[in-house]
Amino acid sequence: MKALIWQGINRVSVENVPDPELIQPTDAVVRVTATAICGSDLHLVDGYVPSMAPGDILGHEFMGEVVEVGSDVKRIKVGDRVIVPFPISCGKCWYCQRGETSLCDNSNPNPKLAEALWGYSPAGIYGYSHITGGYAGGQAQFVRTAFADENLYKVPEGLTDDQVLFLTDIFPTGYMAAENCNIEPGDTVAVFGCGPVGLFTIMSAFLLGAERVIAIDRFPERLDLARQCGAETINYEETEVFEALKFMTGGRGPDSVVDAVGLEAHGTGVGGVYDAVKQTTRVAETERPHAFRAAIMACRKGGTVSVPGVYGGLADKIPLGAFVNKGLTLHTGQTHVHRYLDRLTDHIVRGDVDPTVIITHRMPLDEAPEAYKLFKHKHDNCIKCVLDPWA
Ligand code: NAD
Ligand code: ZN
Repeated sequence: MKALIWQGINRVSVENVPDPELIQPTDAVVRVTATAICGSDLHLVDGYVPSMAPGDILGHEFMGEVVEVGSDVKRIKVGDRVIVPFPISCGKCWYCQRGETSLCDNSNPNPKLAEALWGYSPAGIYGYSHITGGYAGGQAQFVRTAFADENLYKVPEGLTDDQVLFLTDIFPTGYMAAENCNIEPGDTVAVFGCGPVGLFTIMSAFLLGAERVIAIDRFPERLDLARQCGAETINYEETEVFEALKFMTGGRGPDSVVDAVGLEAHGTGVGGVYDAVKQTTRVAETERPHAFRAAIMACRKGGTVSVPGVYGGLADKIPLGAFVNKGLTLHTGQTHVHRYLDRLTDHIVRGDVDPTVIITHRMPLDEAPEAYKLFKHKHDNCIKCVLDPWA
């Protein structure tokens, strides 16, 4: 079969590789009909995630048709059309029982490797390094899926691939990011980053009752889409964000602030005020993380900072004084995708949200290396690219 292979930092290619096979009796093989590139894939391509090996198949946002099931799979049948949540849940461990599926204790077959490198073991994730289990990803024609009965989610009749593909990750991720803001009637939510995750956070904040959403980015086409989703916008290359957010909220600051940027943050967003903090605080000089720092500085006293953006390793220059003395609440995490599938599918069926609005590019899997470049550099107004493994 054809698959998109990680070859090294900034090097991916499409290769012919052996078809996947069932390994455990709880596995199923899915013939992939649609797959997407995520901002998290860029962290792998940028080399921020340790334990990638040349030859690894990328991709954790994918869906398709079940073509083979193991002997212990009961609920899922050959022929089912399914989406596959990116974190793998065993369904039985302490975390999965609480619905915290992205913290599953049993889906990572390499816990020792993860503990040695990170000090803890994350759940298994498709196409996301050996620390998260070394599972082959879904930017391929076929993929082996684990704990099929617990994870594969049958798509209701009448919904297209485009409508449901983002249930695998970014729609639930935006929704959990917004839910983590503890939105109350009348609230203003600020969202740093208008990529796919930021855009779904904006849509979800309104679903959850936010009165206003203020979205921050530098790419006009992303800011345009944020406005179409109902947000007010700030271009951080043109406007001093901290001052603008204060002005727009009567001097108080937003009730909650979302960092939908993560590792590859660009610019500062809160230059002026952070420089002031620096003068009175001894901090080491590093450039990152801009967006997380900006979120802490911009949030009103007593507010909530929600971080769906992915980080790794250590970071410096966190304004801990502001964080503690403003009495902020912090929520983070990989998304517990499974928890949100029924309610977000209902929103799609009712037409409350149209997930397809973020799709700007459709390309055959063969052109995935080009698609990675477009998405990484935001060229050609690329917001989200969907790949067809069979075109
Ligand atoms: P993306 O790269 O398309 O979007 C990031 C956006 O942030 C870009 O539009 C960029 O211009 C903007 N940006 C950069 N620096 C900024 C700054 N200082 N202020 C404001 N905006 C800034 O990526 P995406 O697909 O939207 O993903 C965003 C983040 O969410 C990534 O870190 C990704 O790994 C993470 N993510 C997390 C989960 C989860 O489970 N928590 C799931 C999916 C993605
Ligand atoms: Zn993703």
